[in-house]
Formats: sequence, C-alpha cells, structure tokens
Amino acid sequence: LLSVDDLRLNFGSHEAVKGLSFDIAKGETVALVGESGSGKSATALALLRLIEREGGAITGGTITLHGTPALELSTLTDRQMQQVRGNRVSMIFQEPMTALNPVMTLGDQVAEVLRLHQRLDASAARLAARDAFERVKIPEPDRRLDQFPHELSGGLRQRVMIAMALACRPDLLIADEPTTALDVTTQAEILSLIQQLQDEIGMAVLFITHDMGVVAKIADRVVVLKQGEKAEEGPVEDLFARPRAAYTQHLMVATP
Ligand code: ATP
Ligand code: MG
Repeated sequence: LLSVDDLRLNFGSHEAVKGLSFDIAKGETVALVGESGSGKSATALALLRLIEREGGAITGGTITLHGTPALELSTLTDRQMQQVRGNRVSMIFQEPMTALNPVMTLGDQVAEVLRLHQRLDASAARLAARDAFERVKIPEPDRRLDQFPHELSGGLRQRVMIAMALACRPDLLIADEPTTALDVTTQAEILSLIQQLQDEIGMAVLFITHDMGVVAKIADRVVVLKQGEKAEEGPVEDLFARPRAAYTQHLMVATP
C-alpha cells in the first residue's frame, strides 16, 4: 500500500531522520517505535508534508502509494499532496486540540470534512456527522455535535478526531501517540475502536508509540527507530521473542 524509501529530513542543521525505509501492506498495522526524539513524529509529518510547518525540511526520500510510481517527497505538488491526504491517508495526533478549531462546533467541523471529501450538502453532512459520532461511540451525539472542543474530555476529543479521519475513508491511518494523553481505560477503548474500524473498512494503520505494551496489543509488524535510523524491523512476535538490537531490548525494559 505504502512504501517509504530513504526518507531524510532536517530541522536546521540537525538531521532528525537519516535514510529511513519501510513498507505498509493493505490492512496491516505497523508500529513505529523509538525513544523520545528518535524521529517518529517527524517521519509521520513528512509523509503528509506537514513537516515544513514545524520548521523542518525534507532533504530526500520517496513515497509510493498503491504501487504508483515513486513520488519524490521534497517536490510533491500541492495537488499530489491533496490526493494523498484526502483520499488515502488520514492522521490523528496525541493532542486532538492541535487539530481542532476551538471556536467552531464539533458538528460543524466534522460536517465540513465530510462536505469536502464526500461532496455532501450542508444538511446531508450534518446527518453524516451524526452517523460518524455514533460509529465512534460518542454518547449523546446530538448534544455533542453542538459543543465546542474544550467542552469534551480528552478521550471524547480523540473519538471526534477518529470520526473525522474515518470520514475520509482512508486506506491508511497514521496515528501519532493517539492514546498517550489518556487514562488506561480510555486508552484501551480507543485502541479497540481503532482495531474494530480497521476490521470494518480494511484500512492499514501506522501506529506511533513508545509504549511496547500497546505495540504488543495492536501491531502486526514493528519498525524500531533509533536517532533517526532504523535499528530493527520485524513481525511483532519475533521482536518480542527475540529482539536483536540491544536498543529494542532497552525499549522493552523501559516500558512498564
Ligand atoms: P516523542 O516520542 O517525544 O514524540 P519523536 O520520536 O516523535 O519523539 P520527533 O518529534 O520526530 O521525535 O523529533 C525528532 C528530532 O527532531 C528530535 O531531536 C527533536 O528535538 C527534533 N525536532 C522535532 N521537532 C522540531 C522542531 N519543530 N524544531 C526543531 N527540532 C525539532
Ligand atoms: Mg512524537
């Protein structure tokens, strides 16, 4: 589904990612793990060309989606990027507030995404937004649609983000530590929601985390990042049974 080849990116003179390559197959869940600062978020942002906004620069690397010819990431046109983002790849973040508009009701925000991606008129979009809220199990969806982001708990906000991401019917969901800010119970609920929706629509997931417990629960395959380079990669069972890199062993021990 997605191949990333030799991705390189900098923040100023600091090389945050140094030639990273990996693949994600259709429907597969790949965990991207590594210590804080290893380049996980930078990689995710680069795939959607959001890294420039953060002050970073892509200096090399290609992505291939659906086996189409490889696209040079640093020279992707806006139009190519829109295609990648809109129809094929969606992203959710650790703190949903960064991606939500604080002064717009949740219903309006979800409806807007739906209008853009499914070309619905305003009233159809409102109904579809309600459906989306029900799908991600937001209680009292009608009341919630008229609320603003700050009126919801972190767990509910993350559900809203998932509803928005899924409204685009992505082939790939990139999730950057979507459960890190949540309590353990809510974390488990959000994980099983993602898995359930994944089964339903067959999307692949790139799940970024430093929590090896979460990795064990959801991943098919794991890519381990160390200071911007791949330390090791393999099926989740192999990695847990026989971590090859000392760094991977260290990550596992460091996780409670
Ligand atoms: P965490 O687990 O803490 O989220 P991460 O693996 O996601 O870490 P990144 O955020 O990708 O790490 O950061 C990779 C490197 O790039 C780090 O050395 C970090 O200091 C640097 N970096 C990240 N964002 C910026 C920025 N906006 N400006 C300058 N340097 C940055
Ligand atoms: Mg990060």
